[in-house]
Amino acid sequence: MNIILIGAQGSGKGTQAELLEKALGVPHVASSDLFRKAFDEKTELGLKAKAYVDRGELVPDDLTVAMVLGRLEEPDCRNGVILDGFPRTVAQAQALDKGLQEAGRQIDLVIYLNVPREELLSRLSGRYICRANQHVYNVHSHPPKVPGVCDLDGSELYQRSDDTGEAVQRRLDIFFNETIQLLDYYGGQHKLREVNGNQQIDQVQADLLKTIQES
Ligand SMILES: [Zn+2]
Repeated sequence: MNIILIGAQGSGKGTQAELLEKALGVPHVASSDLFRKAFDEKTELGLKAKAYVDRGELVPDDLTVAMVLGRLEEPDCRNGVILDGFPRTVAQAQALDKGLQEAGRQIDLVIYLNVPREELLSRLSGRYICRANQHVYNVHSHPPKVPGVCDLDGSELYQRSDDTGEAVQRRLDIFFNETIQLLDYYGGQHKLREVNGNQQIDQVQADLLKTIQES
């Protein structure tokens, strides 16, 4: 089964995809990992994509789609895949559908991990990481024992510039203006299901598994 997990940053999508990978035995393919790997291994597509990134430009959709499709052809993806972070736009979704069709495959299920914007904002803007080992804390949900100090190694906690209020709002704007349109696109194909992401990690995982089993 080929599944797409859609969720904003801070929705817990990556964590849930990792858990699903273990539960279902199909690989979790995150677009960010794909890029990193292609850059590190200096593959043809990787080098092409890197040229765009180095110029500060967006990687064109056809290049990203080619990278994803290449990954899906690897043996471990034969029984299915959990896509995370791709597609992000309707244009990418259309390009992915076209590429999959040519390969004799399709997306079977799309799950939207729904977390309210206010909750995302609180999760993301409460994020602090430690200088020594990048351990992650959250002032709301996972505070350190001593404010500003890592429990594990005693190093100083700081907030990345990406996690400040304004940067977080900007990223959430992109999600709620653009990525959210994927819901209509896949809804139109009757492939969309929704899971409440505003619950404990275990409960979200249980709901995800139930949704997948019922599909
Ligand atoms: Zn630490």
